[in-house]
Amino acid sequence: MQQPERDLQQLAPLAAEVAAWSVDWQRMLDDRPVACPDASLPRCALPERGEGAVAALEAFRRDIAPGLSAAAGPRYFGFVTGGVTPAALLGDWLVAAVDQNVSSPGDSLATEVELQALDWLRTLFELPPSFDGVLTTGATAANLLGLLCARQYGGLRQEIDIARDGWGRAEIRVFSATPHASSIKSLALAGFGRDAYCRVPGLPDSEAMDVAALSALLQDCAVPGKVVIASAGTVTGTDFDDLRAIAALCSRHGAWLHVDGAFGLFSRLMPERRDWTDGLELADSITGDAHKWLNVPYDCGFFFTRRPDMLRQNCAVNAPYLDLGSALPAQMDRGIENSRRFRALPLWLNLRAYGREGVAEWVRANCSRAEAFGRWLAQSRDYVLCKPPRLNVVVFRPAGGRDPASLMARVNRSGEAFVTPGQWQGEPALRAAFSNWRTSEDDVRRLCECLQRLARD
Ligand SMILES: *Cc1c(COP(=O)(O)O)cnc(C)c1O
Repeated sequence: MQQPERDLQQLAPLAAEVAAWSVDWQRMLDDRPVACPDASLPRCALPERGEGAVAALEAFRRDIAPGLSAAAGPRYFGFVTGGVTPAALLGDWLVAAVDQNVSSPGDSLATEVELQALDWLRTLFELPPSFDGVLTTGATAANLLGLLCARQYGGLRQEIDIARDGWGRAEIRVFSATPHASSIKSLALAGFGRDAYCRVPGLPDSEAMDVAALSALLQDCAVPGKVVIASAGTVTGTDFDDLRAIAALCSRHGAWLHVDGAFGLFSRLMPERRDWTDGLELADSITGDAHKWLNVPYDCGFFFTRRPDMLRQNCAVNAPYLDLGSALPAQMDRGIENSRRFRALPLWLNLRAYGREGVAEWVRANCSRAEAFGRWLAQSRDYVLCKPPRLNVVVFRPAGGRDPASLMARVNRSGEAFVTPGQWQGEPALRAAFSNWRTSEDDVRRLCECLQRLARD
């Protein structure tokens, strides 16, 4: 008997054991060290003969689990990191169990599930049905798709089909104020060049674009292809570009407007912040992340565009062996990968289980926690609040010229919380992002107490 066959016979007790372990892990997230920056993996050569799943799971528990972070827990404030809701967690287990390949429809309704999940996202973010979408591995892949569409659009304006024939003599200029690092990476991947974009000045004390400056730059630009990468929520200042004004300029100058709203799109769930993304529906393409504020497990992002033809021209796969003749679109024709994970399922379960109001509730709670932490910093003599938080990200630094990097190392070694570095107006700072559905007022208190302790040591 093969080893996988022996494991299959043991699957019921093994699965029960893994389920119990996972539930324990979820319970312990409040208490285990938030990060393990010093963990290391014991060396292990590829086994010649495997010992089966029981031994492999034992090795996981011994060698891997102790070195994992509580990234899914309530005091992991690094980057912008969501957790995992119970429904999304269960959904993700099911993804592996059913192991569907959501490349093209015709063998199952997995594609329909993805289309329904995308439709729900459109509803959640109040986007018109004219936007077509695809689930991606994250916001980076979505930003790349945006630039590929923009490239195709800019090329066609000079009668060059870049997806088909390459760049040729096509010229396309990119404009952005505070592009996310993943957009810079996407500029490299899409053949624009990492540094080949025009940096639009920002507004004072803000990472948002100075629209008058953009207007002048577009006016002066004689190149036929133009792209503007706008931000709906920059990653440090959580600043929002004036999308309506930028869209008007783009339409006047024939520029493609891509909006990166990886986590900022969620501001649309709060009526008092709804006007920050006014004009979003005028974008040509939009990036969003689900593995951040929607709290589904990695990896899951989404991309919407009003010009699915541009997407298809880049991504369509012409292989007779892949065409099952279904009436539904093949999602592989709208994205980077051919074989695709059924990442729609945890997303679908998450939205089905908690609905719009459930998501809005944790988004609002996270913003209140960020405000509370901001208030604590503002009254502290040991810390400086760099700017009042507008959404879920708090930017701060230690007072008295103390080094943010060494403070960060001490916070992250304490096991109490995890924060990551940032830069505010050219000066090093720290960021704490609130995007986990579980983060409570008590977690904010523990963060403040930890910072207080470290300030006095
Ligand atoms: C996180 C983030 C990205 C990159 O997203 P990934 O999901 O890590 O690929 C892009 N843009 C913004 C604004 C982000 O916050």
